[in-house]
Amino acid sequence: MSEAVPTKKPESVLKEFFGYSEFRGNQRNIIQSVLSKRDTIVLMPTGGGKSVCYQVPAMVFEGLTLVISPLISLMKDQVDALNANGISAAFMNSTQSQSEQRFISSQIESGKIKLLYIAPERLYRGDYPLVDFLKTVNLSLVAIDEAHCVSQWGHDFRPEYLKIGELRRAFAKTPFIALTATADKLTRKDIAEKLGLKSPEWFVSSFDRSNITYRVTAKRDAMGKLLEFLDFHKKDSGVIYCLSRKNVEETAAELQAKGLSALPYHAGLPREEREKNQELFIKDEVKIMVATIAFGMGIDKSNVRFVVHMNMPQNIEGYYQETGRAGRDGLPSDALLFYSSQDAITLGRMLDQGDNQQFVDVMQDKLEKMKSFCQSKICRRKFLLNYFGEQHEGDCGNCDICFQKGKRQDMTIPSQMLLSAVVRLGESYGIGYVILVLRGSKSTKIQETHQQLSVYGIGKDRPESFWKNLCDKLMQEDYLAEAGSQFPTLKLTEFAWQKLKNKEKILLPMDDTLADVSNKPTEH
Ligand code: ADP
Ligand code: ZN
Repeated sequence: MSEAVPTKKPESVLKEFFGYSEFRGNQRNIIQSVLSKRDTIVLMPTGGGKSVCYQVPAMVFEGLTLVISPLISLMKDQVDALNANGISAAFMNSTQSQSEQRFISSQIESGKIKLLYIAPERLYRGDYPLVDFLKTVNLSLVAIDEAHCVSQWGHDFRPEYLKIGELRRAFAKTPFIALTATADKLTRKDIAEKLGLKSPEWFVSSFDRSNITYRVTAKRDAMGKLLEFLDFHKKDSGVIYCLSRKNVEETAAELQAKGLSALPYHAGLPREEREKNQELFIKDEVKIMVATIAFGMGIDKSNVRFVVHMNMPQNIEGYYQETGRAGRDGLPSDALLFYSSQDAITLGRMLDQGDNQQFVDVMQDKLEKMKSFCQSKICRRKFLLNYFGEQHEGDCGNCDICFQKGKRQDMTIPSQMLLSAVVRLGESYGIGYVILVLRGSKSTKIQETHQQLSVYGIGKDRPESFWKNLCDKLMQEDYLAEAGSQFPTLKLTEFAWQKLKNKEKILLPMDDTLADVSNKPTEH
């Protein structure tokens, strides 16, 4: 095996083969680490430009760069794209005949191929495993794409990835670079360990995707809200994720019936149809891809303007990766998630069916975090980045939570209920008693004295906490005042009487405590 001595400059390779005049973010340092033959781990969000980090070194090194990737279906596209840029690349997988594979081997032997893409199972499988062949050629670099697949704590564990550790030991002098767009702390540790990397150099980019607007909304009337959202995104490309194949087909059919340009994608469709739909989407001939999460990994479509989740994903890693497919071109893009607690329960049950208890526990914990993301009233970006171990200074100003701050919402109807209950009770009771009446308390005392009131039970659909919070707001905004010190009773203010008389709307400051009545996506 000859020593690979770098001859070309990375900058000129970038310009010559990729047409870019400068490196982005950490790319230059990452490439330097690889060229100095250090094991390197790259954590970079989707769209950050990971491919260049091994493709440029591949062109600088003399020998072959092996790229291990889990997705056979995407290899052809990746290789075609490289070839179109004048980089000789090939892939080997089970869809090819023996003679095709022999031809590629001979091309590698004669040094005509710079990058070889394979799935991990190809390494050690068959009569003549690829690893034996690799020992006979000049292997300069091994790149492991989607490296989180090696970790069973990751959301996409692939046991074949564990074999890469063996490869690492077999090629002691060859640098390895592992890349992923998603890895929480547990998974990160696993990547270095399970791949057997030698004191790797870490490059962790900021995971912030500042051009993506995050929104979470209640699933009630999801289709209506979705149509409203899509109306806002007329002519834009986007992906709508559904949990089941059945949902994918139904949603796609419904959108088509509304005259929208949408196609389904899931693993149950015939291959030709799936590939055709994907291609139409990539070429912008179809705008909306309704899909299961089988769709999207590694797809390089830069102008995806929105990603919708009709169901809550199982964990934040998955959610972040999927939403990360929006806005790779850096332009403003939208991520919308429909949340229902029922979905969270369904996912929990699905997880419980696993037989490895430790694994089930970790996954349940991830699910809990996903749930709290949906329910939380903290800036979404802050929450997400914090999950990945990154701090975000202040709120982002570009998520539904941030949009809601300082806004007012129409609370006329529940406020009228509460105010009239106060009046009907002769302005001589405190909030506790008013709520009991509003919620139709079955206590004998209340039934005997106040059951006949028109306000009795009209507020039973909302929890006690809601009425308490509403009362607080109405006091803060000077609609209600308390009188008496030992047993404070509620009274309407002059201001409130005026508002009621003029039939004016009652707009109150929006916040988490009243959020259950405000689920419309915020327009911007
Ligand atoms: P990732 O694999 O991290 O999701 P890609 O490698 O697909 O990201 O790169 C995302 C996009 O950014 C691609 O369209 C790629 O061509 C582009 N890109 C990568 N590096 C640069 C660069 N240095 N300058 C400009 N564009 C770049
Ligand atoms: Zn925010």
